[in-house]
Amino acid sequence: MAQYHAAKSQHPDAFLFFRMGDFYELFFEDAVEAARLLGLTLTSRNKQDPNPIPMCGMPWHQRDGYVARLLRLDRKVAICDQLEESSPGRKLVPRGVTEVLTPGSVVGEAFLDPIANNFIAALWPGPEGIGLCLADASTSEVRLAELTWEESAGALASLRVSEWLLPDAAAVPSALAERFAASTAGLAGARSTLATGAYLDDFRALERWRDAARELLDSLSLARAAAAALLAYLDVVQGGTALVHARVESWRAARTLRFDAATARHLELFQPQPGGEISHTLWHHLNFAVTPLGARRLRGWLERPLAERAAIEARHDAIAVWISEGVTRAGFREALKGFPDLDRLASRLALARSTPRDLGALRDALARLPQLCAVLGELRAPAVAAILPALAGIPSLLDDLSRALVDDPPPLSRDGGVIREGFDAHRDQVSALARSGKHWIAELEASERARTGIATLRIGYNRVFGYYLEVTRPHLERVPADYERRQTLTTAERFVTPELKHKESEVLGAEDKLRAREHELFVALRDRAAEHVVRLQRAADALAELDALSGLAEAAARFGWTRPAIDDSDVLELIGARHPVVERLLPRGEFVPNDVRLAGGERQILLLTGPNMGGKSTYLRQTAMAVILAQAGSYVPVERARIGIVDRLFTRVGAADRLGSGHSTFMVEMQETADILRNSTPRSLVLLDEIGRGTATYDGLALAWAVTEHLHAADGPRPRTIFATHYHELTQLSDSLTRLRNVNVTVKEWGDDIVFLHRIAEGSADRSYGIHVAQLAGLPARVIARAKQVLHELESERTAEHLGGSITTGGAEGGRSVDGVVGLPARELDPRLEELDRLVPDTMTPIEALQKLIEWKRRGVPPAPR
Ligand code: ATP
Repeated sequence: MAQYHAAKSQHPDAFLFFRMGDFYELFFEDAVEAARLLGLTLTSRNKQDPNPIPMCGMPWHQRDGYVARLLRLDRKVAICDQLEESSPGRKLVPRGVTEVLTPGSVVGEAFLDPIANNFIAALWPGPEGIGLCLADASTSEVRLAELTWEESAGALASLRVSEWLLPDAAAVPSALAERFAASTAGLAGARSTLATGAYLDDFRALERWRDAARELLDSLSLARAAAAALLAYLDVVQGGTALVHARVESWRAARTLRFDAATARHLELFQPQPGGEISHTLWHHLNFAVTPLGARRLRGWLERPLAERAAIEARHDAIAVWISEGVTRAGFREALKGFPDLDRLASRLALARSTPRDLGALRDALARLPQLCAVLGELRAPAVAAILPALAGIPSLLDDLSRALVDDPPPLSRDGGVIREGFDAHRDQVSALARSGKHWIAELEASERARTGIATLRIGYNRVFGYYLEVTRPHLERVPADYERRQTLTTAERFVTPELKHKESEVLGAEDKLRAREHELFVALRDRAAEHVVRLQRAADALAELDALSGLAEAAARFGWTRPAIDDSDVLELIGARHPVVERLLPRGEFVPNDVRLAGGERQILLLTGPNMGGKSTYLRQTAMAVILAQAGSYVPVERARIGIVDRLFTRVGAADRLGSGHSTFMVEMQETADILRNSTPRSLVLLDEIGRGTATYDGLALAWAVTEHLHAADGPRPRTIFATHYHELTQLSDSLTRLRNVNVTVKEWGDDIVFLHRIAEGSADRSYGIHVAQLAGLPARVIARAKQVLHELESERTAEHLGGSITTGGAEGGRSVDGVVGLPARELDPRLEELDRLVPDTMTPIEALQKLIEWKRRGVPPAPR
């Protein structure tokens, strides 16, 4: 156990997988927790001991599956391996930690989602904001950014990061501590704390990026500190020099369309809502990329759409070419099928982590490049012509790999079977020796059977005793005198002969030599391949781009999507727009297309009313998706579109997402609304699906009213907005807010029934049809009838109670006074009236009555809603 404790003390925050023979074992706390998390059986070592040690484990070859599960739970794993083979007769093998696997640093195929980047990110705060270094160690992509304090929380929370590296509390200057803690409070993913020195003392690690990113690093001093820490961390856990051939870019929030993680979840971009199906996601219908390379690129585009016209249009241009050249597109996509993940292969090469199977995949990839180039040569597009040189093969490397490797190389190099016969004379020689020794042993079995007359005699092998002759009990008396007994089993005994032992050492020696030679050859081959990492990355990059673009063209061609016009105006015009997912799920032709006409200067806010089930959410979502798709570079499901580039997209819908955080639905709703009012700009798009629903009706209405006015006010944020609401009172705002238009989802009444037309028309809905929808949902007829009666009474009461006073409409349109616009009963405006109602004067002393009066007087008249 001393070995165990030594290894564990170096990696206290990781599960230690301790290799013992054919198993990996976990002990103590690790064992108890891993057994719970992974469903392993918890046993104990030295059971007789009064304090037995908890233990659980798994066969060595199942290790990666369990490690992957722990990583997905944001945990770390350290692998403690036997540093030398255990061999017959040996007691204690030296052991040491050979790998540390953390959620954000892994590069092995078994731990990665092929179609998503795996990011690790380091942060470092400064007076102006937060420096960020975001990296995918498996693809060598690195992004540097500096975020202002205002944008940091939102920008960080919208990133999909597997592991965050944060400075320990002592390292953060106290003046920044509170803001830094607030900005990083909502981060999902594993967290690792780094000592101060990692950030501040050691910039040597950055030398490796001197050529790639010196100017960038010099201009971003906070990101530079984060990058240094990230590299220092990766160097330790990966046990080498990390990200040597990284492609370092700066990432500026201003160049992208930003939206938060809740929006991505609500729109079901990649994940369905809880309980939903994968076919409800946009990704399911959009991802026509053929390779994981292309899928990752496309996913990155969707997660971070652009906000620069030229860059967006470059993608649209490319899609136009791919659409018009349908035959070439089909040929290219066919030729690309099953193409290896060149990006991750290159990154493992750079880290000297490639397996023989990786080199085999690399060989296959290189062998296929010429054909891809031939197909692409037919595409008449200057952009493609510029890419082609990146796809030129590397004939010398292909030749090396083809000659050296067997057709189907194994996943590990240490068991041999990697190198092709005829590639290396020395290897062939020891291989022949091992083979002939084995052959000799196989023949010995036959000759010993003949000599002893024991037909069931067999020769076996195990690690402790080596080769042995096994004789079952009934035949023991026929065992010859020269057999030496080694082991007694219940049904048989095992023997050796001097001759067998001699041959054994020859065979084992030859096998060891064969493995060693193969490993040597493999490493040399890997090193040769590693010289080409940069070229391989360039090819991977080009293929990812081509695959993603041709995939978008495929989607556009199949679904009849069109190219949106992109400009820097304040217009958002979608004519004949469909929801890319709902349209696919409904029978053909049943989806009703709708128009969106927004323009910051004239039609800034659309107030959308209409019955439940009418299609309001669908309308909001399809609008958001059209903008995301267009700015990601895709065509969109519309007849035609004009999109003035959107800088931020806000959606305020259901709050189920964040209920886990301990806030009430209403609290979450108001926090999100506050975020919108603070951070939206005239270039933003705000989609509100009701606000104020989570509180008393009149509070909610008053809030919705005030929020709408503020969004519209000349000195307000003035984003393009669609606001779906059940508060019909709000439709009166169109009288006072000049850039607000009422629209409604139409229904047709059919006797007592209603039919949803799913069509959005100008004007406000006159009824909400809630009771009709409840009827459709199957509420008992009695309840429906009673509800209608109550509704009738409430409506007449409301008219009677109609407020006599006046409410000023606020905002910048001059504070015009509109009499009785909202119809709020007086008591809702002044809570003192409610209290007065409840008082029982008979039970009060004169002093109490006087005190109450003074209190009310002191509280004064509450301000009118603005
Ligand atoms: P609620 O207010 O209850 O959330 P809603 O008005 O937001 O309802 P949606 O959820 O958007 O309604 O749509 C209700 C149903 O109508 C959906 O199941 C959808 O399939 C269908 N639907 C929505 N829009 C359309 C459309 N344009 N064409 C055809 N069907 C549609």
